[in-house]
Amino acid sequence: MKSPDQPTGLRRLCILGATGSIGTQTLDWVRSDARYSVSGLSAHQDIDGLIALGREFPDAALAAGDAAGVERVRDALGARRRILHGAQGLTELAEASDSDTVVAGIVGSPGLASTLAAVRCGKRVLLANKEALVMSGVLLLEAARESGAELIPIDSEHSALLQCLPAPCARSCIRGDTSDAGQWSQIARLWLTASGGPFWSRQDVDWAQVSVNEACAHPVWSMGRKISVDSATLVNKGLELIEASLLFSVPHSQVDVLVHPQGLVHALVEFADGSQIASLGAADMRIPIGYALAWPGRAERPVQRLDLASAPDLSFERIDARFAAVSLAREAMNSGQNAMIAYNAANEIAVDAFLQSKIKFDRIVPCIEDGLRRADPGTVRSIEDISQVQQQAISYAREWIA
Ligand code: MG
Repeated sequence: MKSPDQPTGLRRLCILGATGSIGTQTLDWVRSDARYSVSGLSAHQDIDGLIALGREFPDAALAAGDAAGVERVRDALGARRRILHGAQGLTELAEASDSDTVVAGIVGSPGLASTLAAVRCGKRVLLANKEALVMSGVLLLEAARESGAELIPIDSEHSALLQCLPAPCARSCIRGDTSDAGQWSQIARLWLTASGGPFWSRQDVDWAQVSVNEACAHPVWSMGRKISVDSATLVNKGLELIEASLLFSVPHSQVDVLVHPQGLVHALVEFADGSQIASLGAADMRIPIGYALAWPGRAERPVQRLDLASAPDLSFERIDARFAAVSLAREAMNSGQNAMIAYNAANEIAVDAFLQSKIKFDRIVPCIEDGLRRADPGTVRSIEDISQVQQQAISYAREWIA
């Protein structure tokens, strides 16, 4: 999407989920670096936040979650402001020709259609929405290959993997084309680290009594509620395992997870000769966001620095039997795309029910297990197929919860 006369490094951003954790941290870069401008912003519920951003970025088109939100934005910013709404509005915003970079910062399945739309337009897509990739699998990667889009993960672990990989491998991942097996033969294994969430180091947890606040109190990262619960169950790591296997085009048996409570080593690449390269940095999401914005260069604004001399001792452990979410993700990958959609859908329904105090914390993973058992083997060929499989999985999960 870069026009030939555009100076290197200039990026016109559409930020989907602009008032959320990823959106807010992306805007930190925009405000500190004149190379970045904003042409589109969306917010689902935080209309006050969207209005404030609309004032700060007067040229940006806006999208609100629903028509009532649009009315409020219009009252505040005037009738002439371009304001879209709903799922269609998100897709239009993602496709608009005045942006070359789309930050896919919407959490969960509601972000799928707009992410896919941005990829189909051949833009650079900063992928925070791992669920979109888990649901659409190779469809999203094929779309990137066809359109020439650049798909750059801003999940910290996957950003770290990109940075550890040899440059030709990283480039081929970003373009969705890892068909040149030659350069990959030197890669033996990808390692993702997991902080373990708030309960890893506690042996006395009464899983049925875990409160929403406890589950959302992540020890390392400050994030939204859904992903915080996913980190507490380690479903987040299950989703990330699928994400890594797809993005880097390696079988899940070549992707492994280490619990690393200090959260300073984000990922490692193990090579055929036994050498391992790790990526370290402060637990600051602005680092992977800055990397994706500036790729193949480096962002220039200082963010939080990691001082290894004053860092705690680094420790690594294997996931133990208390956490089944990662092995369930492997099962889902073995079964096929439908099961991956079911894994994600059952989790979304269960986490939502937990956040509304309708189910206990210890029912989330069994709900996913049931969803996997009921998923048809097989795969999807279109976004319509995805939505059909998703609807089925949602109704199974609702049944199970009821
Ligand atoms: Mg992550």
